[in-house]
Amino acid sequence: MSETSTGLMMDDYPLSLTNVVERAERISAGRSVVSRRPDGSIHRTTFGECAQRARRLGSALAGLGIGDGDRVATLLWNQPEHLELYFAVPLLGAVIHTLNPRLHPQELSFILADADDKAIVVDESLLEVFDSVRSAWNFEHVIVVSHSGSTPEGSLDYESLLGSGEQMEWPTLDERRACAMCYTSGTTGRPKGVLYSHRGLVLHSIASALPDELGLSGRDTVLPVVPMFHVNAWGLPYTAAMVGAAIVLPGPRLDPVSVLDLLADERVTMTAGVPTVWMAVLQALDAEPERWDLRALQRLVVGGSAAPQSMLEGFDRHGLTVVHAWGMTELSPLGTVCRLPVELDSASEEERYDYRSRQGVPTPLVEIRARGEDGELIAWDDEAMGELEVRGPWVASAYHGGQGSGKFTDDGWFQTGDVVRISPQGCIRICDRSKDLVKSGGEWISSVDLENQLMAHPTVAEAAVIAVPDEQWGERPLAVVVVREGADASPEQLREHLARHYAKWQLPDRFEFVEEIPRTATGKFKKTVLRERFARAAV
Ligand code: AMP
Repeated sequence: MSETSTGLMMDDYPLSLTNVVERAERISAGRSVVSRRPDGSIHRTTFGECAQRARRLGSALAGLGIGDGDRVATLLWNQPEHLELYFAVPLLGAVIHTLNPRLHPQELSFILADADDKAIVVDESLLEVFDSVRSAWNFEHVIVVSHSGSTPEGSLDYESLLGSGEQMEWPTLDERRACAMCYTSGTTGRPKGVLYSHRGLVLHSIASALPDELGLSGRDTVLPVVPMFHVNAWGLPYTAAMVGAAIVLPGPRLDPVSVLDLLADERVTMTAGVPTVWMAVLQALDAEPERWDLRALQRLVVGGSAAPQSMLEGFDRHGLTVVHAWGMTELSPLGTVCRLPVELDSASEEERYDYRSRQGVPTPLVEIRARGEDGELIAWDDEAMGELEVRGPWVASAYHGGQGSGKFTDDGWFQTGDVVRISPQGCIRICDRSKDLVKSGGEWISSVDLENQLMAHPTVAEAAVIAVPDEQWGERPLAVVVVREGADASPEQLREHLARHYAKWQLPDRFEFVEEIPRTATGKFKKTVLRERFARAAV
């Protein structure tokens, strides 16, 4: 190939987060980073200061021997120290591994060992969670963000550690290097780790900022209600840093009044979270419509579970626009965004709502297709249904340790487990889920795991767990149980049995005792029949 046809005369500049953070440090230094502390007080700093502190933190972490691909776990809320770690750890060449404190200690312990974390940074308010997993994994360093001024024995104080560091010059990094890690629940067995690359997150930030996507600019103030342990808070900290949008970090308090107070007081223009949070916020707003001045707020991004049409209508009544988006841990997470196309500007209200409650069209650089039960790709006719497959520069191509390889096709697409219809214009509507999971308040519960645990109980012959719709949580698990002949089982007994392995919020609310569970020809539980029988009755 000749020089003129290869394009090799363009700079092969690495797409690393270093550029994103250094830009925030230089160009958007004065943009605010506002956080609410666990005691309710407001802490104010800037991107410039955060980035400078990240340099000292990076140097201190390097002094502890952390570098090249080492995993640094975090048990933190949406707080400024978390942002500093989001900056320092990847820029150092290490990997930030965010942990979900709501998981059961058994699950967390598995994740720590699987990720082989070298150090952990824990907020003082989460020390109890940390204590429940401490013996499971031998961290080389435990660093505590203290609010009381004291740190437990054997741990390092975050502020003192950072204070001991110097202004680090960041190394030049290969764009394909891993920079962050997050675990996703498996349908069966163990959670699986997704490793994000610098290149993936840089491209994800650029795409997220586009006007028809999340539309972030230097004039925005963003409040990620979605936790920073959920797929990098949907990438918002990096997108905000890239474009210089101010950021508001809500800390541990996510009750509706606290969220609304922050949205109003900090004149937030864009916020994002799962439907459960927004349903509660909507109720609070309906109850006291005059209490908060939300005139600055332009859009609420809702994803993680389907945004019901009633929610879009409810926020519209307050002059607030919901933007529906779909994503996954394996997609960093943005996959599709639903923005009303110009052709529908003059459509009826009903048509517009119908469109807006779909999950949307693929983000630029993400490709979609779907495969029907016959194994063939479905037509984009809005009628055929199939399992959605995706590929793109921020879509995982494997899990950590080679787990779950069956989720990736031979030609390099990721199988999402979501069943969709696709319109001729490429707008998806999620109709079902082929993965056997329940999503409650944005968090996963594995039906198959619950079933196996139930069937380990001496009184249970068979058990099937299904998701039933729930107004507040989106879905809740319901257990259908066949009791062994001559045995007696009560919901309390079974719940107690499950509580040894699962967090309280993961336990089924309802137990239905039946003579027999219908099965398919291949011997699998016919969950469609169970859903029809029990799910409807639950609404
Ligand atoms: P997670 O990896 O925990 O972010 O979960 C990703 C999954 O959440 C997807 O595969 C969907 O099943 C579900 N999900 C995410 N966004 C939406 C949405 N807007 N509507 C319906 N389901 C969604």
